[in-house]
Amino acid sequence: MKILFTSSECVPFVKTGGLADVVGSLATVLAREGHDVRVVLPMYTAIDFSWQQQMEHLLHFDVQLGWRRQYCGVMQLQHEGVTYYFLDNKYYFGRPYVYGLGGDEYERFSFFCRAALNALPLLDFQPDIIHAHDWQSGMVPALLKIQYQHLPFYAAIRTVFTIHNLQYQGIFGIREVQDVIGLGDGLWSADKLEFSGCANFMKAGLVYTDIITTVSPSYAGEITTAYYGERLDGLIRARKKELFGVINGIDTELYDPETDNMIAQTYTADTLGGKAKNKKALQKELALEEKADVPLLAMIGRLTNQKGLDLVDCVLSDIMAEDLQLAVLGMGDSRYTNLFSWAETKYRGKLAARFTMDSALAHKIYAGADFFLMPSLFEPCGLSQMIAMRYGSVPIVRETGGLRDTVLSYNEETKEGNGFSFRDFNAHDMLSVIRRALDFYRNRKDVVETLRKRGMQGDYSWTHSAREYLNLYKKLLKKGSA
Ligand code: ADP
Repeated sequence: MKILFTSSECVPFVKTGGLADVVGSLATVLAREGHDVRVVLPMYTAIDFSWQQQMEHLLHFDVQLGWRRQYCGVMQLQHEGVTYYFLDNKYYFGRPYVYGLGGDEYERFSFFCRAALNALPLLDFQPDIIHAHDWQSGMVPALLKIQYQHLPFYAAIRTVFTIHNLQYQGIFGIREVQDVIGLGDGLWSADKLEFSGCANFMKAGLVYTDIITTVSPSYAGEITTAYYGERLDGLIRARKKELFGVINGIDTELYDPETDNMIAQTYTADTLGGKAKNKKALQKELALEEKADVPLLAMIGRLTNQKGLDLVDCVLSDIMAEDLQLAVLGMGDSRYTNLFSWAETKYRGKLAARFTMDSALAHKIYAGADFFLMPSLFEPCGLSQMIAMRYGSVPIVRETGGLRDTVLSYNEETKEGNGFSFRDFNAHDMLSVIRRALDFYRNRKDVVETLRKRGMQGDYSWTHSAREYLNLYKKLLKKGSA
């Protein structure tokens, strides 16, 4: 099969969150299965120079964006069996950040979507499937259906659109978007592109794609409800027959405590003693008291309300009154960085917080922690809890989305489970589950060890989910040719 991914980020080139991990690892796995997989990305200046040096300039063309004509260069790089195309325009992507600050996101990603489609005949690549990811690629299925599919070259292409996080939709003024994307007035109605008087890139993808997927079965169910549906639940309910939840995998080679060269000591489920060395090294690096038998809780992730940090805020003094240590790594909202900077001073030696994007430190924390706390308000899939389990850190999570699909709370009767969890978004429920976990740590070390081992032996590979995507692609192609 010929498969084209369009995405705004992808490991190993550019990453702000789980989207990058998923696109990079899924593309690699599908290519390994023998498919022709190509990925289109923006050519950000933020991409490391060592990658930029390996790229080859293939061709360039002009993209019409309303009354503007914009240059688009196509740079190519082959990596682990996948062909990557980077769309180059310094005006849009020659900035030190990936998202956000310029106020022209709608123009940057309108350019990206249109240029990705226009590039295909020039690259002589006619995909069977275009798999578009998140709102930045939302205009790809829309433009394809509305403006391109009457042309023979594009007529047979089928589309899959994946929601990695419904909270981020790309909502802008209609006039501004229309000015660059050039879609006629008749299309800006509530059943097509209009959303509460605005343009919405996510909605554009959801309306025009052939199949919608999201990154866990639970989240697929949740987003059909008003509570999780981010005001798109009506549309998603209407397309329920074409909606599928496919759980993400993780890169099991990158995240492997047996071979990881970023951690102090490699280990396996049978040599769990190695974890103690990682804990000691981590405590030293983060200036935590170097105590072997104090349980170390960790949090790694974007510091936003999605990650349940309001619960932590609410009962932080109760958490810190316990005999434990807390390590936090993340970037995000100032209310949370302020909270944790203050707490680091107040609980010196017991709490450490780092506000950088630091993969090496993330690996050290996954390896050195005893427990991994993830009390999310909502969680489309969540990779961090799976990575934590792979490193033998026991997850403490809220039962939502992908957390619900990957973590089963320990049941003392049946002895089943691989972590601890609570149901309601309630700070004291979280606190009592943290205390429950600590109690096992102090009094039932055998249970904690069993949970660590179960976590490490879990299957987080892409094998199963990649097959599910392939089946969806095949189903679409069969339908298309019928
Ligand atoms: P989301 O996609 O909502 O950001 P996920 O749990 O799906 O959350 O994926 C987050 C990924 O980003 C994980 O691989 C996690 O380890 C990584 N990550 C998040 N914040 C940081 C950080 N500050 N430094 C290093 N890695 C981070």
